[in-house]
Amino acid sequence: MLDWAKIDTVMLDMDGTLLDLHFDTYYWLQHLPERYSQLKGVTEQQAKNIIYPKLMSLRGQLDWYSIEYWATQFDIDIVALQHEVRHKIGFLSGTEDFLNWLSTTDKQIFLVTNADHYSLGVKQPHVRLDRWLHGFYHSHDYGFAKEEQGFWQALEKDIGYDPERSLMVDDNLEVLAAAQESGIGHLLAVSKPDSQRPPQDTGKFLSVENVGQAVPTLKEAN
Ligand SMILES: [Mg+2]
Repeated sequence: MLDWAKIDTVMLDMDGTLLDLHFDTYYWLQHLPERYSQLKGVTEQQAKNIIYPKLMSLRGQLDWYSIEYWATQFDIDIVALQHEVRHKIGFLSGTEDFLNWLSTTDKQIFLVTNADHYSLGVKQPHVRLDRWLHGFYHSHDYGFAKEEQGFWQALEKDIGYDPERSLMVDDNLEVLAAAQESGIGHLLAVSKPDSQRPPQDTGKFLSVENVGQAVPTLKEAN
């Protein structure tokens, strides 16, 4: 398991790590095509044929995570449509236990996300992550996705963390690999980012099904 005594800075991804990715999966793959077809007067299949390839082509790039970009691309008010399914926004099992425990330590806790400010704005009122976190860092503010080294260089400069004593927790294995390459000493993968889907293979990375499992047991803590 993680050696918490060697970690001062905890950097947490949002979607699929703290929050259930089901909201995003449902929104982009079902709700958006459904509403697009209604708003644009095309069939749902036609809507999917327009939306899916565009989403696939930019996967992992900064624009893929930009609500503004997709609003322009699809000529749709993405934020308004996200509010329509806001009841699906929620924590993954174990998240609140983990954050509550983390808050009892003296570690610095940061959100480090590819989600843009619009996306956080939709989710934040429902989850109030500011109750636990000491700072929010968005890749959009640096102009690099977390998958890119430019992001980690900018973040390290900004936060001033000691990479060797820092932990990144993410459900995106490409992001963990990039964090590792940048020198982050501790990495943890989430194997079940979406409550409605089967777990993913996290390869070489140490993993938990949900972050609640990263809370040390009494035996480990003593
Ligand atoms: Mg994620």
